[in-house]
Amino acid sequence: MAGRDVLVVGGSALDAVTRAVVALEDDPLFNAGRGSVFTAAGTQEMDASVMDGRDHRAGAVAGILGPRNPVLAARMVMECSPHVLLIGEGALAFCRQQRVPFADPGYFSTEERLRELLEALEKRRRDIAEEGTVGAVARDRHGNLAAATSTGGMTGKTPGRVGDSPIIGAGTYADNATCAVSATGHGEFFIRYGAAFEIAARLRHADQSLHQAAEAVIEALAKLGGRGGVVAVDRNGALALPFNTSGMYRGYVRADGASRTAIWDEPYLLG
Ligand code: ASP
Repeated sequence: MAGRDVLVVGGSALDAVTRAVVALEDDPLFNAGRGSVFTAAGTQEMDASVMDGRDHRAGAVAGILGPRNPVLAARMVMECSPHVLLIGEGALAFCRQQRVPFADPGYFSTEERLRELLEALEKRRRDIAEEGTVGAVARDRHGNLAAATSTGGMTGKTPGRVGDSPIIGAGTYADNATCAVSATGHGEFFIRYGAAFEIAARLRHADQSLHQAAEAVIEALAKLGGRGGVVAVDRNGALALPFNTSGMYRGYVRADGASRTAIWDEPYLLG
């Protein structure tokens, strides 16, 4: 709904996905911003990215703890630096310089995530992409597409590990000529198979529909052992939200205001 509020007044897809991801980062239930998961060392390291399908501009940050909304840090990299991806201390120095709002480390930490870390260190995770990486894709009234993704990564990850979420073409991709994609799941697989770009490439080169392309890529990843899913929208506004886990928290809202959310493999696409 936060994203829709931007779109209904004629705002851009880029602002819509940014606003939607900020709202999800602020909610401690999701693994992004406040409520990010912990590394094996008990620290928090966040990754985020944003891409504008109009001109392929993109910005990303990785391994950061400080900016209250990592997606805004990513957006700042896109808009105020000549780079695409900044990491760690350098990213933080850049954010301070650009006056990106910071929060105290305690703000990001929740009891629930600490408990999960202790559990995860003992046993492997359940089969659901519920870690809560957040992402949004949007098509605005001008036909522009955008995507944004933000995450704390995977529980118990090695400090320094970077997942797919800040990697353009892996966890995030937007291209007005094809589609916008935001991914969640086992990031190493999404990076190794260039998952988000692969979906767009199938539209461009193999004449597949978004539905065909997204389903095929997620199914192929499943066969390789790569768990996860994507939210995607194409240049005509068609949606695809496939996943190969038992569930994926997802939702959409259309221009007419019709909206749906779903978790499990249940019918949710409106006609
Ligand atoms: N894709 C994220 C990562 O690998 C994690 C997730 O989506 O649960 O960092």
